[in-house]
Amino acid sequence: DFLSFRRAARRSRSQYFFERGRLIFPDGTTRVTVERDPIPTYIARGEGAYLIDVDGNRLLDLNNNFTTLIHGHGYLPVADAVADILQKGTCFSNPTEHELGLAELLVQRIPAIEHIRFVNSGTEAVMFAIKAARAFTGRSRIARAEGAYHGAYDWAEVSQSAAPASWGPEEAPTATTVYRGAPESVAEEVDVIRFNDIEGLERRVAISGSELACILIDPMPSRAGLTAPDPAFVEAISTLSRQYGFLVVADEVLNLRQGYRGASARFGLVPDLVAAGKIIGGGFPVGAVGGRKEVMEVFAGVGTRPVLPQGGTFSANPVSMVAGRVAMEALTPASFERLEEMGTHVRNGLCAAIARYEAPFSVTGSASLFRIHPKRHTPREYRQAFPTPEQNSWMTNMTSHFRSLDILLPFGAASCLSTAMTNSDLDLIVEAFGDFLETYQS
Ligand code: PLP
Repeated sequence: DFLSFRRAARRSRSQYFFERGRLIFPDGTTRVTVERDPIPTYIARGEGAYLIDVDGNRLLDLNNNFTTLIHGHGYLPVADAVADILQKGTCFSNPTEHELGLAELLVQRIPAIEHIRFVNSGTEAVMFAIKAARAFTGRSRIARAEGAYHGAYDWAEVSQSAAPASWGPEEAPTATTVYRGAPESVAEEVDVIRFNDIEGLERRVAISGSELACILIDPMPSRAGLTAPDPAFVEAISTLSRQYGFLVVADEVLNLRQGYRGASARFGLVPDLVAAGKIIGGGFPVGAVGGRKEVMEVFAGVGTRPVLPQGGTFSANPVSMVAGRVAMEALTPASFERLEEMGTHVRNGLCAAIARYEAPFSVTGSASLFRIHPKRHTPREYRQAFPTPEQNSWMTNMTSHFRSLDILLPFGAASCLSTAMTNSDLDLIVEAFGDFLETYQS
């Protein structure tokens, strides 16, 4: 048909690169999580809100490297600052003033961060936050929400994107090692609860709350539906953590972009530790774990307590630190207000299209993030957001439709806006969705 002809015609160089990739990479490319339609699109360069692929197509990018690029691609202030750093040496075993600049900015902005350490990825940030919670409490178990994505640390990965067959009962979800790389015993040390399920959380901690080092919680978990936490759920986390003596670890790797002071501040969560990443590196590899000074002291081995080592060859390298500081400095309260308005404009536009076509779809998200669900009722947690096979094919059709209109829409995860987008880019998103509903509903 015309669509597949168009796809094939404009994929010749991507096809060629993928053929080469298949010879040397398992699964064809290191970027395994990217959409394939049926092969990945290879990118030549990025320009603001747009990607230019190797076949010369220009795509509106709603992925922004998995929500990292809050200023879009090739943001000049970061490019200039990094160009300056490159000639002065890119990494040293000694510290530089550049780690101070980004750290001071984050400590000043994020209420829960009194002390901070840098790592190289969100995965590492979550891993060290969990290790710090264990070292501080002397306990090993963790609790986490079903389905949510927290990176690749074995314990953080339990029940991530779990398939229905392994869910177990609603009132007591089963903890499962979803991937074969982790020992099954890991799941025995993890309690899984459903996001926004207060009673389930209470039941769970009544059993093992006093063995928990922490609850790991993303205030708006993207892969579990990108749904906001109920204030009562947030309150219950605080109350129960105090009652049972476990820490609250907020995974803000993705959601720090919820506002000038981050996601926990926005949603009223008061964490002991925060894992950060993505936007704080200005487009370069980064992660950070921060939190209450007293807890963060596990990394210093104060008094008779032994130190919890946290190193990393590239941790706090000057390139990531400078890029991150420049990107974050440019994000003023006014930038976040603008991003909020942009997000509201898009979400309202999508909802208006749903109403116009009486389509069985719903929209979640806040600030610069949104997710379109092929669900009539807006999901509040992972199971409700999980698509049936039929809904899954709606999502495939929707992603393909956006792609045929040169818009890259992430599949089953958060789409995000950037400060590089214009009002006409936003209208393009809304129009593409209306066009999709009209095409497929008839
Ligand atoms: N936590 C959350 C909420 C994330 O969205 C991600 C990445 O998408 C991670 C952790 C892992 O971060 P990284 O990919 O930098 O290791």
